[in-house]
Amino acid sequence: MADFRIPQLNTLLSEVEAKRPLLSEPEKSLLKKAYEFAGKAHSEQKRKSGEPYFTHSFETAMQLANWNLDIPTIAAGLIHDVVEDTRFTLNDVKDLFGEEVAFLVNGVTKLGKLKYREGKDKNSKEDYRAENIRKMILATSEDLRVVFIKLADRLHNMKTLAALPPAKQKRISLETTEIYASLAYRLGMQNLAGELEDLAFPFIHPQGYKWLKENTRARYEKGLRHLEKVKQTLEENFQKNGIKWTKIDYRLKRMSSLYKKLLRHDMNLDQIYDLVAMRIIVNTVEDCYAALGTIHQLWPPLPGKIKDYIALPKPNGYRSLHTTVICMDQMVTEFQIRTAQMHEEAENGIAAHWAYSQAKTNKEFIKEKKTIFADTQEIKWVQQLRSWQDSFTNPQDFLQSLKVDFFKDRVFAITPKGEVIDLPAGSTPIDFAYHIHTTIGDQCVGAKINNRLVPLDCEIQSGDVVEILTQKNKKPSGSWLQFVKSSNSKRRIRSSLKKSQSLFLKKSQQTELKIIVRDKVGLLKDILNVISRSHINVSNVNAASKASLPTIKLVCDINEKERAEKLILKLKGLEGVKEISYHFL
Ligand code: MN
Repeated sequence: MADFRIPQLNTLLSEVEAKRPLLSEPEKSLLKKAYEFAGKAHSEQKRKSGEPYFTHSFETAMQLANWNLDIPTIAAGLIHDVVEDTRFTLNDVKDLFGEEVAFLVNGVTKLGKLKYREGKDKNSKEDYRAENIRKMILATSEDLRVVFIKLADRLHNMKTLAALPPAKQKRISLETTEIYASLAYRLGMQNLAGELEDLAFPFIHPQGYKWLKENTRARYEKGLRHLEKVKQTLEENFQKNGIKWTKIDYRLKRMSSLYKKLLRHDMNLDQIYDLVAMRIIVNTVEDCYAALGTIHQLWPPLPGKIKDYIALPKPNGYRSLHTTVICMDQMVTEFQIRTAQMHEEAENGIAAHWAYSQAKTNKEFIKEKKTIFADTQEIKWVQQLRSWQDSFTNPQDFLQSLKVDFFKDRVFAITPKGEVIDLPAGSTPIDFAYHIHTTIGDQCVGAKINNRLVPLDCEIQSGDVVEILTQKNKKPSGSWLQFVKSSNSKRRIRSSLKKSQSLFLKKSQQTELKIIVRDKVGLLKDILNVISRSHINVSNVNAASKASLPTIKLVCDINEKERAEKLILKLKGLEGVKEISYHFL
C-alpha cells in the first residue's frame, strides 16, 4: 500500500499568507487548533483511495485559502466533516471554536443532508428540481461562505472520484455538473465551474471524452504553436503603442464546453475557432480598449464576434473584451482582454468580491464586535446578485428568479428521501405534509424535524429535514387553520373538514315528521308502533292540539329520503292519518 503522509500545517499557513501576509497570532493559532482538532477527529478514518480522511479536510481548507477567504472560513473548512462523520458534535465545535465557526460548519452539515437523485426521464421537471436545489443551497446557507466551503469540498471530492465505484461516480458527476458547477457559474466563479465540469465530464460522457482526447490533441498543439508566434507580434506592437500589459498567455477551451459546442456543430472541429484563445491581461480599462484597437489594426476582425463585456457585463458579473480575427496564416483566432482585477473576478467571481469587501470592512467588524455572518455580508451579496440581475435581459435565466424577496419569502425543506420542497416562509409541518400529498396532510398526527419530534405549528427553517407521521383515518383539525401558512393547505383543510362534517351529519341526520290526524284516541300509540317495527329511533314527540287540525310532530333518526318515504307509506295505512309531510333537520 502506498505511503500516505499527513499534510503539514505549514503548507496551509503559507497558502494563506501568500494572500494575506499580515496574518495575526490569534488567526494562526485558530488555524492550528482547527488543524489539530480535525486531525484527531478523523484520525481513524480513511478515504476510499486509502488516504487518511484528513487529507480531504486539509485540501478543502487549502482551496478556501486560495480563494482568499477569511480565517474562520478556512478553519471551518478544516473541520467541515467533523460533525457529520465523527463522534464530535456541533456543541463541541462551538465550545472549541465559537459561534461563527460553528455556524459555518453547521451550514455545511445541513447542505450535506441534500441528496441529488437522478430522475427517470430528462424532462423539464428535472431542471425544475435542479433549480430548486440550487436555490435551496443558497437559501439554506444563509451565508455565502457556507457555499464556498461546500464548493471547495466538492472540488476535492471530484478530484478523488476515481476511487469510487462507477455507479457512484456517475451520480456524483451529474450532481456536480447540474447543481454545483452551475451554482459556481452563477456566482461568477467561472474557473471553478469549468473545473468541476471537466472533472465530471469523463464520468458522464466516457465515449465523448475518448473521442475528444483522440481528435483534439494535434489541433491543440498546432493552436499553441500559432499563439506563440502571435504573442511575439503582440508584444512588439503593444510596446510600440505604449500599452502596458501584465501577462499574455493562452487558455485552452475546456473539454466539457468544447463537447457541448461540438454537439451543436455535428462534431466538426473545423467549426470551432476558440479551441485555444489568447488571453491578455493589461493594467487599466483604457489599455483593454487600446489593446483591442491594436489587434484590429493587425488583423481583420470577424463581424459579430466583437463582444464588449466591460460595458455590458454578463449576468454573472463577467467582464472582458472578446474578439475573433483572421490572424496570421489565415488562422481564425480568439482574443480575450481584461484587467487583473477583472481576471481575478472572472476566475473566482463572488469569492473575489467577497475577499475585497471583507478586507476593507474587517476592521470595522472587529471594532463593533459584530458577527460577520449576521447581516452586512448577506446584504452585500444580495446587492451583488441584484446588480447582476439589473443587467439582465433573458427572463429564462436563474438570477431573474433569484429575487431578493425569494430569500425572505421562501423556505426550503427536505424530505427524508432528499427531495427539496419549496414552501412559503413560516410554513409548518402541516404545510409540508399537504404539499407532498393531501392524504398525508389529512392524516398527519405528528412531525419530526431533523429527527426530533416537534409541535405541528412549529416553523420550518430552510434546510430542515422534515418527516411526517401519519395515522390512518385521522381527520384534520380545524385548529390547524390558525397556523398553516400556504393557501393550498388552508384550502385542503377546509375541504377535508367539510367532507367529514357532512359525513357526520349524514350519519346522525334526523327527520321531522308532521302527521295530521283525525282526533283518534290511540293513534299516537299505533304510529309509534309502526315506527319502532321499522327499527327507527324516535327522539322527540310533540302532539300539538292547538292547531285547527290535530297534528303530531315526531323527530326520528332517518337520514335517507327513501327510508322516510317507505315509513310514510306505512303510516298512511293507519286509519285516522290524514296527511304526512317530512323534512330533514
Ligand atoms: Mn467533505
